[in-house]
Amino acid sequence: MRGWPPGGRRFHATETNAVSTPEFCIRPTTTPVATNVRQEILDNPGFGQYFTDHMAHVRWTKTDGWHGAELRPYGPLTMDPASPVLHYAQEIFEGLKAYRHADGSVWSFRPTRNAARFRQSARRLALPELDDDTFVESIRTLVAQDAVWVPTPRDETEECSLYIRPFMIANGRFLGVKPAAEVDYYVIASPAASYFKGAGKPISIWLSSHYNRAAPGGTGAAKCGGNYAASLVAQQEAIDNGCEQVAFLDAAENKWVEELGGMNLFFVYADGRLVTPALTGTILEGVTRDSVLKLAEEIGLKPEERPISVDEWRDGVNSGTITEVFACGTAAVITTIGALVTEKDTIGDPERSNGPVAQQLRKALLDIQYGRAEDKHGWLTQLA
Ligand SMILES: *Cc1c(COP(=O)(O)O)cnc(C)c1O
Repeated sequence: MRGWPPGGRRFHATETNAVSTPEFCIRPTTTPVATNVRQEILDNPGFGQYFTDHMAHVRWTKTDGWHGAELRPYGPLTMDPASPVLHYAQEIFEGLKAYRHADGSVWSFRPTRNAARFRQSARRLALPELDDDTFVESIRTLVAQDAVWVPTPRDETEECSLYIRPFMIANGRFLGVKPAAEVDYYVIASPAASYFKGAGKPISIWLSSHYNRAAPGGTGAAKCGGNYAASLVAQQEAIDNGCEQVAFLDAAENKWVEELGGMNLFFVYADGRLVTPALTGTILEGVTRDSVLKLAEEIGLKPEERPISVDEWRDGVNSGTITEVFACGTAAVITTIGALVTEKDTIGDPERSNGPVAQQLRKALLDIQYGRAEDKHGWLTQLA
């Protein structure tokens, strides 16, 4: 266990999990959202607009390490105007979901992958690592307390869930440029419907030729707010060109396809290959990406992780050797890309329908997440 708790004394060990997992001190809200208001929200939650009654919090200081694990009412943070996160963007985050199964139980999907990625992101941003048990326990504690906020799908086609957002910020009062000595970790949660409006319809993607998301040696493989801040102007350009999302190329040659602002890319070939750009240090390693690679093999596809150029994309779609292109990530699951719009041409057909392979993979993934298919990989963790 990576240094939690310092000296083993800060937290009581629970019976089921010896030594290292902290017990979160529960401070329940005295003003929960009224039942009828919550129900109205859950009937039409949108994405990222409403939040549950509580949030988890753990504090870190250079002198005391991680301490003070608590669940407290959701609400504004008070911070010093000289807090380093406000000036130097020393921040990382994660995104995962809690799914309600037909028997009422609530589960998360591969949360230890998110925990491991959170540690990697922390290392890159010179933030302290949070151990995996505490990460998962913070989510479990929040979701157990706010379980009434996990939407119940009306039928198998509805993809509602509770979106969980862990994040870590450099805090305190210090404008010097060096890693923060005070850090706060929080988890908030938001009921969610499908990510894209008109879910299930193919989206159009804008190819960014002026902006890059990540560069060799940069922070592309870390899930940090700064990457998103840098991608917004390109995302705006996509919207201005009638597209929903933006695709980024590699910064060195502007030739190799990397990913979207927050989703990984896959290409389905007529001969059964499933190609995704290899992880070169500038691509975020998606949990969905990894799961798709594993599921693809089970349905008889031949997954390949390798560089793919925008020319291969264009030629493949035009000649028919590439039959489908899709993007994937926790928020939007798997979404077919109808067309890639560039400054000089449009590759594919914005009006195309969902590809069969994307649909099959999407169903396979959702069936596991919602407990409708056997969890052969042991990917689910019960939260409530
Ligand atoms: C979060 C994220 C993804 C998708 O990762 P998942 O673990 O599948 O949700 C892809 N690309 C970027 C840049 C991301 O931030």
